[in-house]
Amino acid sequence: MQNIDADNNPFPQSPVMPEMFDGNKRIHFRCHKGIACFNACCKSIDISLTPYDIVRLKKRLGVTSTEFLRTYTVPYEMEKDGLAGVKFNPVEGGTACRFMTDEGCSVYEDRPTACRYYPVALLSMRKQDEYVDSYSYALVKEDHCLGHNDPRELSIDDYRAEQGLADYDELARGWRQLILKKKSSGPAIGKPSKRSLQLWFMACYDVDRFRAFVESESFGQVFVLPEEEKTRILADDVELMLFAFRFLRQVMFGEQSIGLDEESVQQRREKLREKQLQEEREAAERMARDEGFGE
Ligand code: SF4
Ligand code: SF4
Repeated sequence: MQNIDADNNPFPQSPVMPEMFDGNKRIHFRCHKGIACFNACCKSIDISLTPYDIVRLKKRLGVTSTEFLRTYTVPYEMEKDGLAGVKFNPVEGGTACRFMTDEGCSVYEDRPTACRYYPVALLSMRKQDEYVDSYSYALVKEDHCLGHNDPRELSIDDYRAEQGLADYDELARGWRQLILKKKSSGPAIGKPSKRSLQLWFMACYDVDRFRAFVESESFGQVFVLPEEEKTRILADDVELMLFAFRFLRQVMFGEQSIGLDEESVQQRREKLREKQLQEEREAAERMARDEGFGE
């Protein structure tokens, strides 16, 4: 099973039909339990997860996001020196999905976006000079998948509706926009610091750790959130995830939507400036020593 989320060239691999479609494209496809290839697509997986996929699966499995990430996923770099994504970790020593059973998917009602889309691939794009993203689709035709031979005909939009993708796409939109914005901002934003990459990972994928961060004293010293709003956000994983996207837009791209405590921001700036000055002083002293001055 392929997971595809490309911005420019969406067809790096052969099973993807070299054509982009809109939602009106009609396809022939049907997957069902009696089909001869049942489970074939889950035996060799490459499935990236969206933040909403993780929220659904952690709830389904009754674990924290931190436990979920540790047990079922591996991180990967979406592009060199870029943001991290998260993929399913297949069974030990194999390529099959950990949730595959003889009866089919054991988390079917909460299966991830990529599993719902298959054999359609979602291509999320951001046109130059446009802030909004747009979706196109491609078709993945792999030899083992016999669903393409079924005479049932339907549009990609109907297929998306059948697979319950409206919520999944809507709730991952803020995350996809951040990725596209980062990819297209290039050197203007530059290589993210280690700290911002860690923040990205926690805010996007580890909702329970992000909750603890929002509850922390240090967060409260810098960000001002009305008590009622804070209580609402903290009480619900989906609300917290959406708040995380807002938070990342602010810290990564300066799009301010969360109030700041000016006094504490000023204090932090001064502290940072002091730290920089101290580092510069130490570097100058080191250079002077190396050059043999002051001996
Ligand atoms: S989550 Fe379910 S549908 Fe997706 S690869 Fe695993 S078993 Fe297959
Ligand atoms: S028809 Fe395709 S999607 Fe369905 S089980 Fe077979 S390989 Fe998987």
